[in-house]
Amino acid sequence: MAFDCYCAICGVGFAGMCIGDPSDATIEQRGQSVERISRSLNCAEHTESSAQDEEPIQTYDPRLVDQENVAWTSQVHCLGVQDAAEGKTKAFVSGPGYYADAGELAVKIGQPSKRTYFNCYGFGTDEAPGPVLPFHWCCFEILLRTLTRTTDPKNVNLDALYDAMISMCNGTGSALRLPYGEDVARAQGQYWQSLPGAEYCVRHPTNTPDLEEFLKIQIQTNSSLRATPTELDLGNRQPKNPFGTLPPEIVYQICSFLPGNSMKSLTEASLYVHLITRDDYFWRSFIQSDMPWLWETQVLRDSLNFPLDLNYQLLYQFLNATTAPKYGMHDQALMGIANRRRIWGACEELSGRYSEVL
Ligand SMILES: [Zn+2]
Repeated sequence: MAFDCYCAICGVGFAGMCIGDPSDATIEQRGQSVERISRSLNCAEHTESSAQDEEPIQTYDPRLVDQENVAWTSQVHCLGVQDAAEGKTKAFVSGPGYYADAGELAVKIGQPSKRTYFNCYGFGTDEAPGPVLPFHWCCFEILLRTLTRTTDPKNVNLDALYDAMISMCNGTGSALRLPYGEDVARAQGQYWQSLPGAEYCVRHPTNTPDLEEFLKIQIQTNSSLRATPTELDLGNRQPKNPFGTLPPEIVYQICSFLPGNSMKSLTEASLYVHLITRDDYFWRSFIQSDMPWLWETQVLRDSLNFPLDLNYQLLYQFLNATTAPKYGMHDQALMGIANRRRIWGACEELSGRYSEVL
Protein backbone atom coordinates (compact mmCIF):
# COMPACT_ATOMS: atom_id res chain seq x y z
CA MET A 1 0.00 0.00 0.00
CA ALA A 2 1.33 3.43 -0.91
CA PHE A 3 1.77 6.00 1.83
CA ASP A 4 3.84 9.02 2.81
CA CYS A 5 6.57 9.30 5.43
CA TYR A 6 7.39 12.61 7.03
CA CYS A 7 10.48 14.57 7.98
CA ALA A 8 11.73 13.22 11.31
CA ILE A 9 12.54 16.75 12.46
CA CYS A 10 9.72 19.02 11.21
CA GLY A 11 6.98 16.46 10.47
CA VAL A 12 6.26 17.88 7.00
CA GLY A 13 6.03 15.66 3.91
CA PHE A 14 8.43 15.37 0.97
CA ALA A 15 5.81 15.31 -1.76
CA GLY A 16 2.20 16.19 -2.45
CA MET A 17 2.41 19.97 -1.91
CA CYS A 18 -0.66 21.16 -3.81
CA ILE A 19 -1.04 24.86 -4.51
CA GLY A 20 -4.31 26.31 -5.75
CA ASP A 21 -4.61 28.00 -9.11
CA PRO A 22 -4.79 31.80 -8.73
CA SER A 23 -7.47 31.92 -11.41
CA ASP A 24 -9.84 29.35 -9.96
CA ALA A 25 -12.91 29.99 -7.88
CA THR A 26 -11.65 28.40 -4.68
CA ILE A 27 -9.77 31.48 -3.41
CA GLU A 28 -12.86 32.90 -1.76
CA GLN A 29 -14.08 29.52 -0.53
CA ARG A 30 -10.63 28.77 0.93
CA GLY A 31 -10.52 32.15 2.67
CA GLN A 32 -13.94 31.58 4.23
CA SER A 33 -12.96 28.10 5.38
CA VAL A 34 -9.73 29.38 7.01
CA GLU A 35 -11.62 32.20 8.70
CA ARG A 36 -14.24 29.79 10.03
CA ILE A 37 -11.63 27.42 11.47
CA SER A 38 -9.61 30.34 12.93
CA ARG A 39 -12.75 31.53 14.69
CA SER A 40 -13.49 28.06 16.07
CA LEU A 41 -9.87 27.67 17.27
CA ASN A 42 -10.06 31.03 19.01
CA CYS A 43 -13.26 29.90 20.71
CA ALA A 44 -11.47 26.65 21.71
CA GLU A 45 -14.24 24.60 20.18
CA HIS A 46 -13.63 22.00 17.53
CA THR A 47 -15.50 22.15 14.25
CA GLU A 48 -14.94 20.35 11.02
CA SER A 49 -12.68 21.98 8.46
CA SER A 50 -15.49 22.90 6.12
CA ALA A 51 -19.21 23.31 6.07
CA GLN A 52 -20.91 19.94 5.70
CA ASP A 53 -22.21 20.54 2.19
CA GLU A 54 -18.80 21.66 0.92
CA GLU A 55 -16.00 19.53 -0.46
CA PRO A 56 -12.96 20.24 1.77
CA ILE A 57 -10.27 22.20 -0.09
CA GLN A 58 -6.86 20.56 -0.01
CA THR A 59 -4.73 23.11 -1.79
CA TYR A 60 -2.64 25.93 -0.38
CA ASP A 61 -3.52 29.55 -1.01
CA PRO A 62 -1.48 30.60 -4.10
CA ARG A 63 -1.18 34.11 -2.63
CA LEU A 64 0.77 32.68 0.33
CA VAL A 65 2.97 29.99 -1.24
CA ASP A 66 4.22 29.16 -4.72
CA GLN A 67 6.24 26.27 -6.12
CA GLU A 68 9.49 28.08 -5.37
CA ASN A 69 8.52 28.49 -1.69
CA VAL A 70 7.83 24.76 -1.22
CA ALA A 71 10.71 23.42 -3.36
CA TRP A 72 12.81 22.77 -0.22
CA THR A 73 10.38 20.08 0.94
CA SER A 74 11.13 17.68 -1.91
CA GLN A 75 14.86 17.18 -1.29
CA VAL A 76 15.50 14.47 1.27
CA HIS A 77 18.55 13.35 3.25
CA CYS A 78 18.60 10.63 5.86
CA LEU A 79 20.39 9.45 8.96
CA GLY A 80 21.09 5.71 9.03
CA VAL A 81 23.61 3.18 10.25
CA GLN A 82 26.03 1.00 8.30
CA ASP A 83 27.87 -2.15 9.36
CA ALA A 84 31.26 -1.37 10.85
CA ALA A 85 34.05 -3.43 12.39
CA GLU A 86 33.47 -6.01 15.18
CA GLY A 87 29.75 -6.36 14.55
CA LYS A 88 29.07 -2.74 15.43
CA THR A 89 27.31 -0.13 13.36
CA LYS A 90 28.30 3.41 12.50
CA ALA A 91 25.86 6.23 11.79
CA PHE A 92 26.01 8.19 8.53
CA VAL A 93 24.20 11.11 6.93
CA SER A 94 23.30 10.57 3.28
CA GLY A 95 23.60 12.93 0.38
CA PRO A 96 20.48 14.38 -1.25
CA GLY A 97 17.72 12.35 -2.84
CA TYR A 98 13.97 12.03 -3.07
CA TYR A 99 11.09 10.18 -1.47
CA ALA A 100 9.73 7.49 -3.81
CA ASP A 101 6.64 6.01 -2.14
CA ALA A 102 5.59 3.54 0.54
CA GLY A 103 8.47 4.51 2.81
CA GLU A 104 11.14 4.11 0.14
CA LEU A 105 13.86 6.70 -0.20
CA ALA A 106 16.39 7.11 -3.04
CA VAL A 107 19.49 9.02 -1.89
CA LYS A 108 23.14 9.29 -2.80
CA ILE A 109 25.80 7.83 -0.50
CA GLY A 110 29.53 7.15 -0.64
CA GLN A 111 32.45 8.50 -2.65
CA PRO A 112 31.99 8.38 -5.60
CA SER A 113 28.32 8.72 -4.77
CA LYS A 114 25.85 6.14 -5.93
CA ARG A 115 22.09 6.12 -5.69
CA THR A 116 20.87 3.79 -2.97
CA TYR A 117 17.40 2.82 -1.77
CA PHE A 118 16.48 2.78 1.92
CA ASN A 119 13.34 2.24 3.99
CA CYS A 120 12.24 5.14 6.18
CA TYR A 121 11.32 4.11 9.72
CA GLY A 122 11.04 0.51 8.45
CA PHE A 123 13.17 -2.57 7.91
CA GLY A 124 16.88 -2.49 7.18
CA THR A 125 18.52 -3.22 3.84
CA ASP A 126 21.89 -4.63 2.76
CA GLU A 127 23.43 -1.14 2.88
CA ALA A 128 21.80 -0.12 6.16
CA PRO A 129 20.90 -2.77 8.75
CA GLY A 130 18.35 -0.54 10.49
CA PRO A 131 15.63 1.91 9.47
CA VAL A 132 16.75 5.27 8.15
CA LEU A 133 15.35 8.58 9.37
CA PRO A 134 14.48 11.04 6.59
CA PHE A 135 14.74 14.81 6.91
CA HIS A 136 15.05 18.11 5.08
CA TRP A 137 18.55 19.58 5.23
CA CYS A 138 17.40 22.94 6.63
CA CYS A 139 15.58 21.07 9.43
CA PHE A 140 18.79 19.16 10.17
CA GLU A 141 20.64 22.49 10.41
CA ILE A 142 18.09 23.76 12.93
CA LEU A 143 18.54 20.54 14.92
CA LEU A 144 22.32 20.96 14.81
CA ARG A 145 21.96 24.49 16.17
CA THR A 146 19.91 23.23 19.14
CA LEU A 147 22.47 20.48 19.81
CA THR A 148 25.77 22.25 19.11
CA ARG A 149 25.01 25.96 18.48
CA THR A 150 26.61 25.42 15.06
CA THR A 151 25.43 24.00 11.73
CA ASP A 152 28.45 21.72 11.25
CA PRO A 153 27.49 18.01 11.37
CA LYS A 154 31.04 17.20 12.55
CA ASN A 155 30.16 18.65 15.96
CA VAL A 156 27.41 16.15 16.68
CA ASN A 157 27.70 12.52 17.77
CA LEU A 158 25.73 10.88 14.94
CA ASP A 159 25.58 7.46 16.66
CA ALA A 160 23.96 9.00 19.74
CA LEU A 161 21.64 11.08 17.58
CA TYR A 162 20.55 8.00 15.62
CA ASP A 163 19.83 6.08 18.85
CA ALA A 164 17.91 9.06 20.27
CA MET A 165 15.78 9.43 17.14
CA ILE A 166 15.11 5.70 16.72
CA SER A 167 13.84 5.56 20.30
CA MET A 168 11.24 8.20 19.40
CA CYS A 169 9.70 6.58 16.29
CA ASN A 170 5.93 6.82 16.30
CA GLY A 171 3.60 3.82 16.15
CA THR A 172 2.67 4.21 12.49
CA GLY A 173 6.28 4.35 11.30
CA SER A 174 5.83 7.65 9.50
CA ALA A 175 7.50 10.22 11.79
CA LEU A 176 8.81 10.64 15.34
CA ARG A 177 6.85 11.28 18.53
CA LEU A 178 7.62 14.99 18.59
CA PRO A 179 5.45 18.10 19.06
CA TYR A 180 5.32 19.10 15.38
CA GLY A 181 2.24 21.24 16.08
CA GLU A 182 -1.46 20.74 15.45
CA ASP A 183 -1.35 22.04 11.89
CA VAL A 184 1.23 19.44 10.87
CA ALA A 185 -0.47 16.64 12.82
CA ARG A 186 -3.71 17.32 10.91
CA ALA A 187 -1.87 17.16 7.57
CA GLN A 188 -0.15 13.82 8.27
CA GLY A 189 -2.62 11.39 6.73
CA GLN A 190 -1.84 8.39 4.57
CA TYR A 191 -0.60 11.11 2.25
CA TRP A 192 0.44 14.67 3.07
CA GLN A 193 -2.58 16.96 2.92
CA SER A 194 -2.11 20.54 1.74
CA LEU A 195 -4.52 22.09 4.23
CA PRO A 196 -5.37 25.77 3.75
CA GLY A 197 -4.45 27.87 6.77
CA ALA A 198 -1.30 25.83 7.43
CA GLU A 199 0.78 27.42 4.65
CA TYR A 200 3.35 28.65 7.16
CA CYS A 201 4.34 24.99 7.83
CA VAL A 202 5.71 24.66 4.29
CA ARG A 203 7.53 27.98 4.11
CA HIS A 204 11.31 27.66 4.17
CA PRO A 205 12.34 27.87 7.85
CA THR A 206 15.87 29.21 7.39
CA ASN A 207 15.77 31.11 4.11
CA THR A 208 13.74 34.08 5.38
CA PRO A 209 14.99 37.05 3.34
CA ASP A 210 12.25 39.51 4.35
CA LEU A 211 12.60 39.03 8.09
CA GLU A 212 15.59 41.25 8.84
CA GLU A 213 14.06 44.16 6.93
CA PHE A 214 10.76 43.60 8.75
CA LEU A 215 12.55 43.82 12.12
CA LYS A 216 14.41 46.97 11.13
CA ILE A 217 11.24 48.69 9.93
CA GLN A 218 9.32 47.72 13.08
CA ILE A 219 12.10 48.99 15.33
CA GLN A 220 12.32 52.29 13.47
CA THR A 221 8.66 53.01 12.83
CA ASN A 222 6.33 51.05 15.12
CA SER A 223 5.21 53.64 17.67
CA SER A 224 3.63 51.02 19.95
CA LEU A 225 7.16 49.80 20.78
CA ARG A 226 8.19 53.15 22.20
CA ALA A 227 6.22 53.60 25.38
CA THR A 228 8.53 54.60 28.22
CA PRO A 229 8.18 52.61 31.42
CA THR A 230 5.94 54.31 33.95
CA GLU A 231 7.38 55.07 37.34
CA LEU A 232 6.01 52.92 40.13
CA ASP A 233 4.87 54.66 43.30
CA LEU A 234 5.89 52.19 46.00
CA GLY A 235 4.87 54.40 48.91
CA ASN A 236 6.32 52.82 52.04
CA ARG A 237 6.48 49.34 50.51
CA GLN A 238 9.76 47.53 50.82
CA PRO A 239 9.59 44.68 48.31
CA LYS A 240 10.88 41.57 50.08
CA ASN A 241 11.13 38.06 48.76
CA PRO A 242 13.84 35.40 48.38
CA PHE A 243 15.07 37.00 45.15
CA GLY A 244 15.77 40.23 47.03
CA THR A 245 18.65 38.59 48.89
CA LEU A 246 20.45 37.81 45.62
CA PRO A 247 22.59 40.16 43.54
CA PRO A 248 20.70 41.36 40.44
CA GLU A 249 23.20 39.55 38.17
CA ILE A 250 22.20 36.20 39.69
CA VAL A 251 18.50 37.03 39.32
CA TYR A 252 19.15 37.94 35.66
CA GLN A 253 20.84 34.56 35.20
CA ILE A 254 17.87 32.71 36.73
CA CYS A 255 15.44 34.67 34.57
CA SER A 256 17.40 33.83 31.42
CA PHE A 257 16.45 30.14 31.95
CA LEU A 258 12.72 30.91 32.08
CA PRO A 259 10.41 30.74 29.09
CA GLY A 260 8.59 33.97 28.25
CA ASN A 261 5.27 33.05 29.92
CA SER A 262 6.97 32.08 33.17
CA MET A 263 8.98 35.30 33.07
CA LYS A 264 5.75 37.26 32.77
CA SER A 265 4.25 35.39 35.75
CA LEU A 266 7.37 35.97 37.82
CA THR A 267 7.41 39.72 37.18
CA GLU A 268 3.74 39.83 38.17
CA ALA A 269 4.29 37.76 41.32
CA SER A 270 7.51 39.40 42.51
CA LEU A 271 7.72 43.16 42.81
CA TYR A 272 11.49 42.87 43.31
CA VAL A 273 11.95 40.96 40.03
CA HIS A 274 9.58 43.39 38.35
CA LEU A 275 11.71 46.33 39.48
CA ILE A 276 15.11 44.96 38.52
CA THR A 277 13.97 43.71 35.11
CA ARG A 278 12.65 47.04 33.93
CA ASP A 279 15.79 48.12 32.13
CA ASP A 280 16.55 47.65 28.44
CA TYR A 281 19.74 45.71 29.07
CA PHE A 282 17.77 42.93 30.74
CA TRP A 283 15.22 42.66 27.92
CA ARG A 284 17.84 42.80 25.18
CA SER A 285 19.59 39.84 26.81
CA PHE A 286 16.28 38.08 27.42
CA ILE A 287 15.32 38.33 23.74
CA GLN A 288 18.60 36.59 22.88
CA SER A 289 18.22 33.84 25.50
CA ASP A 290 14.47 33.20 25.10
CA MET A 291 14.45 33.32 21.28
CA PRO A 292 17.52 31.31 20.18
CA TRP A 293 15.66 30.45 16.97
CA LEU A 294 15.53 34.13 16.01
CA TRP A 295 19.15 34.52 14.95
CA GLU A 296 18.19 37.68 13.04
CA THR A 297 18.16 39.47 16.41
CA GLN A 298 21.78 40.26 15.58
CA VAL A 299 20.19 43.45 14.19
CA LEU A 300 19.66 44.42 17.84
CA ARG A 301 23.41 44.66 18.30
CA ASP A 302 23.47 47.51 15.83
CA SER A 303 21.39 49.61 18.21
CA LEU A 304 23.22 52.93 17.76
CA ASN A 305 20.67 54.09 15.21
CA PHE A 306 17.62 52.87 17.09
CA PRO A 307 15.08 55.33 18.49
CA LEU A 308 16.20 56.29 22.00
CA ASP A 309 12.76 55.57 23.42
CA LEU A 310 12.55 52.01 21.99
CA ASN A 311 11.19 49.84 24.79
CA TYR A 312 12.81 46.38 24.64
CA GLN A 313 10.24 44.74 26.89
CA LEU A 314 7.54 45.77 24.44
CA LEU A 315 9.78 44.63 21.58
CA TYR A 316 10.10 41.21 23.25
CA GLN A 317 6.31 40.95 23.66
CA PHE A 318 5.79 42.03 20.04
CA LEU A 319 8.27 39.45 18.69
CA ASN A 320 6.85 36.73 20.92
CA ALA A 321 3.32 37.36 19.64
CA THR A 322 4.04 37.92 15.94
CA THR A 323 6.39 34.95 15.43
CA ALA A 324 4.13 32.41 17.16
CA PRO A 325 3.11 29.60 14.76
CA LYS A 326 -0.59 30.18 14.20
CA TYR A 327 -3.22 28.64 11.97
CA GLY A 328 -4.27 31.07 9.24
CA MET A 329 -1.20 33.31 9.53
CA HIS A 330 -0.54 35.11 6.27
CA ASP A 331 2.22 37.68 6.78
CA GLN A 332 4.87 36.86 4.18
CA ALA A 333 7.73 38.15 6.33
CA LEU A 334 6.72 36.05 9.35
CA MET A 335 5.54 32.68 8.03
CA GLY A 336 9.06 31.25 7.64
CA ILE A 337 10.17 32.33 11.12
CA ALA A 338 6.99 30.89 12.66
CA ASN A 339 7.82 27.60 10.96
CA ARG A 340 11.39 27.77 12.30
CA ARG A 341 10.10 28.42 15.82
CA ARG A 342 7.75 25.43 15.49
CA ILE A 343 10.62 23.20 14.35
CA TRP A 344 12.91 24.52 17.10
CA GLY A 345 10.36 23.36 19.69
CA ALA A 346 10.45 19.81 18.27
CA CYS A 347 14.28 19.94 18.14
CA GLU A 348 14.53 20.97 21.79
CA GLU A 349 12.57 17.88 22.79
CA LEU A 350 14.79 15.70 20.62
CA SER A 351 17.82 17.45 22.08
CA GLY A 352 16.75 16.34 25.59
CA ARG A 353 16.62 12.71 24.42
CA TYR A 354 20.02 13.10 22.70
CA SER A 355 21.58 14.34 25.96
CA GLU A 356 20.19 11.30 27.80
CA VAL A 357 21.67 8.94 25.20
CA LEU A 358 25.05 10.69 25.36
ZN1 LIG B 1 11.75 18.95 7.79
